[in-house]
Amino acid sequence: MIRIEHLNKSFGDLHVLKDINLSVHESDVVCLVGASGSGKSTLLRCLNFLERKDNGNIFIQGENIIPKTHDMNEVRQRVGMVFQHFNLFPHKTVIENIIEAPTVVRKVSKDEAIAEAKELLKKVGLEDKADVYPSKLSGGQKQRVAIARALAMKPDIMLFDEPTSALDPELVGEVLATMKELADEGMTMVVVTHEMGFAREVADWIVYMNEGQIIELDRPEEFFENPKEERTKEFLKTTA
Ligand code: ATP
Ligand code: MG
Repeated sequence: MIRIEHLNKSFGDLHVLKDINLSVHESDVVCLVGASGSGKSTLLRCLNFLERKDNGNIFIQGENIIPKTHDMNEVRQRVGMVFQHFNLFPHKTVIENIIEAPTVVRKVSKDEAIAEAKELLKKVGLEDKADVYPSKLSGGQKQRVAIARALAMKPDIMLFDEPTSALDPELVGEVLATMKELADEGMTMVVVTHEMGFAREVADWIVYMNEGQIIELDRPEEFFENPKEERTKEFLKTTA
């Protein structure tokens, strides 16, 4: 589904991603964990081509994506992304936020987009909030709208960058539950998270990053019970 080969990325003199190799198979949930500054967001942004890699290859569904020759809008349609801050349009209602991209980019009719959006709102448990403005929603509700909005593009892959870390603790659970549901339905997901409980329960694979490198890639049981690398053990102590 996704294959990353020898990916490198620097910001000036700062070598942020160092020879990253990683494959994500269909329906897999991969949780990316690691200390602040280790390159998790940069890796995710490279996968969505919001950030230009220096070298290496990124294959999406078998296709080596070359930004110069590919239609990036088409590629981004296949790879949805949810950020820490929801970035909803404040002057649009919930349903208007969701139908924006399908009508503009996918050229779906407004009626069809509304019908799809209502289904998505039901899925994230917010069918009664269609006509409300984002300012009237809790952080957890906003994030669930952001997830619905990303899903409205019918992506094949979903990327999440710390989707719950800006939320009050009592709102984290509802967003993680929505993500778990998506995972159970077979969505291919790459999730940067500090929520170790979620990672343990939902991930098929855990990737631990440190200083721009993948240090360890393991099944969750293995990762948490029997980490191999010293740096992973140290990291896990900080999250306990
Ligand atoms: P966090 O857990 O705090 O979100 P992270 O693992 O997501 O951290 P990144 O945001 O990928 O880390 O950043 C990796 C390194 O790259 C950091 O040292 C950061 O300062 C640097 N960096 C990120 N984006 C840029 C940028 N646009 N320009 C310059 N340096 C950047
Ligand atoms: Mg980050």
